[in-house]
Amino acid sequence: MRRKLAAGNWKMNGLRADVAQVEALAQAFPDPGCDILICPPATLLAGFVPAGQGVVSLGGQDCHSATHGAHTGDVSAPMLADAGADYVILGHSERRADHGESSELVAQKVRAAHAAGLIAVVCVGETLAERDAGTTLDVVGAQLDGSLPDCVTAANTVIAYEPVWAIGTGRIPTLDQIAEVHDFLRARLADGAFAAHADGMRLLYGGSVKPDNAAEIFATANVDGALVGGASLKAADFGKIILAL
Ligand code: 13P
Repeated sequence: MRRKLAAGNWKMNGLRADVAQVEALAQAFPDPGCDILICPPATLLAGFVPAGQGVVSLGGQDCHSATHGAHTGDVSAPMLADAGADYVILGHSERRADHGESSELVAQKVRAAHAAGLIAVVCVGETLAERDAGTTLDVVGAQLDGSLPDCVTAANTVIAYEPVWAIGTGRIPTLDQIAEVHDFLRARLADGAFAAHADGMRLLYGGSVKPDNAAEIFATANVDGALVGGASLKAADFGKIILAL
């Protein structure tokens, strides 16, 4: 049985005052029936650990593939773990687009995350042009294959399907479209080197998940939770999404 995961990606949002949001979440769900994860900016990680009280896990939003060294502005996986993170998001479409990250680089980062004891949340997703061209499954399949190093297991990796055109737009795929991609991802895992882990690996949907659409998305086959952007910034909204899981 896969344990559901409600993951919040705060992106480049959040100041120290926002620790209150994590405190509110921890208080609202003292004994949650699912895993709850907040990925704040790296500046906030260490300060959020006591606020989460062990109920809310914390994660980074990216890491370098090296453990340390001359990489100005970057944060390594051991640094995230040292600051209290249990997870790290890797290969988000904003990283792939803004920083030109290839799946090959993402795979190196996933390896680094695992070496530091972190669970990697690996993102895949097509652009609108790719969907319109009918190449969605080719694109996400190639991203999946290229982004997973051989150390991947169901315990140390989560896959997030995030159609680029659904992120921050208020537009979501139909439930059939979500089911098609999630079924495809599960089958692709089962077919390849990760067959032993395909059943146990959690597959999240991300892109404009809100309190009013979460329940129907979560009722879709092979959807084991969500990676939530804007609606994770306020504990009240994120709490409603957690309740829908
Ligand atoms: P939104 O929920 O704001 O659309 O963002 C989704 C996302 O990119 C999460 O990683």
